[in-house]
Amino acid sequence: MKKIIRADEMGFCMGVERAVAIVQAIADGNSDQKAATLGPIIHNQQIVDKFTKLGIPAIESVDDVHEGKIVIRAHGIPPEERKKLENKGVEVVDGTCPKVIASHKIVQKYSSQGYHIVIVGDRNHGEIKGLAGYARDFDIIESPQEAEELNIPSKTMVICQTTIKENEFDSVCRILLQKNGQIKIHNSICSATNNRQTAVRSLAEKVDAVIVIGGKNSANTQRLFLTVKELHIPCWHISGAEEISAEIYEDLKRYDIIGLTAGASTPDWVVEEVENRLKTHS
Ligand code: SF4
Repeated sequence: MKKIIRADEMGFCMGVERAVAIVQAIADGNSDQKAATLGPIIHNQQIVDKFTKLGIPAIESVDDVHEGKIVIRAHGIPPEERKKLENKGVEVVDGTCPKVIASHKIVQKYSSQGYHIVIVGDRNHGEIKGLAGYARDFDIIESPQEAEELNIPSKTMVICQTTIKENEFDSVCRILLQKNGQIKIHNSICSATNNRQTAVRSLAEKVDAVIVIGGKNSANTQRLFLTVKELHIPCWHISGAEEISAEIYEDLKRYDIIGLTAGASTPDWVVEEVENRLKTHS
């Protein structure tokens, strides 16, 4: 049997655990009131499917919400969207991660003091859209190249997506500081992300190959996968056991020790399934 080692820190983070528990509590409440989540509650299809079966589907747009309870996901939403929901008379249940709420407050504070806000992160990600909603005047940049091209006013505050890599944020800040040494920098990177990154690096030293488990649209899972790739360790990114293809099994035959890690939105039972599947095939 192959040896399988799990990363010291992996899987659900505090914010995701909290958001999932909120939806589970609604499901357990057995109320007749309709309930839904605004967008997938987390970037994990298995969880989204489970809640849909329990009568709590994901609704894509605020415009499609008309009644009952609506749960905001851990990434949060812009304040205008929240207002729209409240104006519709629906019950807003806030699943926004407390760490994301802290970022909202920082942006709000500096914005009200007349600062231009620079947000570093993926402009298509829900967390960044939510954060931008709290800024009066802002730019979103995704890379050091974009930082080079950016013109920033003297009063500028820089903040980032909670799941961005520390070295990417550092490079962007270095470039912006060269343009304006007075800028304020707020590092809002979540320790859950860093801890998982550190854990996967140390895992990579002990194994021959790594399997990263998590949704394909989960930013922090993609970052774990990238980190392993950068270390030149054979690795695969799968959403669950059903994605371990015949080719992957074939490739894995060449390795004795397989490492497992999982993104912050991957439930433990999905990791269990992958581990059991690998054990039965080795
Ligand atoms: S990664 Fe951090 S900020 Fe994001 S939901 Fe999890 S605990 Fe919250």
